[in-house]
Amino acid sequence: MELQNLKVASDKVSFAQAVKKGLGKEQGLYFPTDLRAMNNIDELLAMPLVERSQAIIKHLVGDEMSPELIDSLIQNAFNFPAPLVNVKDNIFCLELFHGPTLAFKDFGGRFMAQCLAHISEGEPVTILTATSGDTGAAVAHAFYGISNINVVILFPKGKISPLQEKLFTTLGGNIHTVAIDGDFDACQRLVKTAFDDQEVREGLHLNSANSINISRLLAQVCYYFEAIAQLPKEQQDKAVFAVPSGNFGNLTAGIIAKTLGLPIKRFIASTNANDTVPRYLQDGKWTPKPTVATMSNAMDVSQPNNWPRIEALIEHGYFDRSLLSGDAVDEEYTQVAMKQLQAAGYISEPHAAIGYRGLVKQLAKDEVGIFLGTAHPAKFRETVENVLGQPISLPQPLVDCAGKPSLASEQGPEYEALKAYMFKTLGK
Ligand SMILES: *Cc1c(COP(=O)(O)O)cnc(C)c1O
Repeated sequence: MELQNLKVASDKVSFAQAVKKGLGKEQGLYFPTDLRAMNNIDELLAMPLVERSQAIIKHLVGDEMSPELIDSLIQNAFNFPAPLVNVKDNIFCLELFHGPTLAFKDFGGRFMAQCLAHISEGEPVTILTATSGDTGAAVAHAFYGISNINVVILFPKGKISPLQEKLFTTLGGNIHTVAIDGDFDACQRLVKTAFDDQEVREGLHLNSANSINISRLLAQVCYYFEAIAQLPKEQQDKAVFAVPSGNFGNLTAGIIAKTLGLPIKRFIASTNANDTVPRYLQDGKWTPKPTVATMSNAMDVSQPNNWPRIEALIEHGYFDRSLLSGDAVDEEYTQVAMKQLQAAGYISEPHAAIGYRGLVKQLAKDEVGIFLGTAHPAKFRETVENVLGQPISLPQPLVDCAGKPSLASEQGPEYEALKAYMFKTLGK
C-alpha cells in the first residue's frame, strides 16, 4: 500500500511507515494513492466479521504484510461483535460499543496497537495522543502492558465525563495521562507542536494514535461492511448512514468503504453545535468558530482534522460530494432525540442520538437509515439518567475502574511544560 502526504506530495510512504509516523511532513495527513474497488462484494457480505475484515485489510494493505500476519492482527483486534439493531421502522443502530472500553474507538485502537507492536519490532515507541473522550480509553487499553510502548494521553481537564476519565487514568504502568487546563483543540495543538519538535519527536520516538493514524481508519472501514451484511438482501442497496461526527474519522472510513464498492446510498454528517462542516456543506465557506462544550463531548471539535482526507476523496473523484449532507443538532434536540429513542424502546446516549436525529430529519421512506451507536449509554450515565429519568446500570468494564483512583497529572496549556514532563517521565 502506498500513501501520499496530502500537504507534501513528494512525501510517499508504505503502510508500515505511515502507521509508525502517524503524521507526515508539515503535519500532512497520509492518504492511499490507490483505492481500487473490490470485485467480490456479494461474497464478502456473506462472510463472518473477522474473515471478511481480513479480506478487506489484505485488499487495502496489499502484499506489504503477509496474509497470515494480517489474519492474526485482525483476529486479535476484532474480538467483539458489532450488532445491527432495529430501533423502529426502517431505522437501525449499528452498535459499535461492545469492546473493552465500550466505544467504537476500540476497533481502530486495537488494530493500531496490533500493527504498531508488530512494526516496531521491540524498539522503544512513545504514543502521544489527545482525546476528547473515547480515543484515550481505547488507546490506553489497546496498548496497556506492551512493554516497549509508552503511551501519553492529553485530555481537557473537567470536560469529559468522570467515568470516561476513569477508564484510562486508572491503568498506570506504561499508560501516562495528563489533564490539560484547556479545551480539546488546545490538547490537539500541543500534540501537533510536539510532532514538530525534532528533539521530542526523535528523542522519544513519537507516534500519534488518534484518528489521524491511517491504521485506525482501515479498521473502521470494516464495520460499515458488517452493517450492510446484517441487512436483509433486498435492503442492502438502500442504506443511508448517519455518522455522529467530531474529527470525522468515522465518516472518512465510511466513504472509503463506499469507494471499495460497498453499496452505500449516501451519508449524513451529524454534528452537535460545533457545526463547521454542516455550515460548510451549505454555503461552501470554511469558518470554524471557537469550540463549545456540549453533552456529546467526544464531538466537541470545531476544526476536524480528518476533513482534508474527505476533501481528497472528493477531489480525486472517489466520492461525489452531493452524496453527503450535514445536520447540526443543538442541545435541546439532542435530548428530544434521546427521548424519541426511549419511546421506541431504545436507550441511547447523546452522540448516537445526534446521528438518529439526522435520520429523522432527512431519511426518505424508501431508504434504510443506519446511525452509528458510537458509545455505550453507561459511558455517559449522568447525562443519560438526567435526560431520560431512568437508572442506567453499569457494564463490567466500568464497574471495574469506577472505584480506582485517577493517576493523571495536571498541567497548563503551555508546550514547554509538557515537553519537560515527557522527558522527565519517559527519557532515560
Ligand atoms: C470519537 C467519537 C465520535 C466522533 O468520531 P470522529 O471519528 O472523531 O468523527 C462520536 N461519538 C463518540 C462516542 C466518540 O467517542
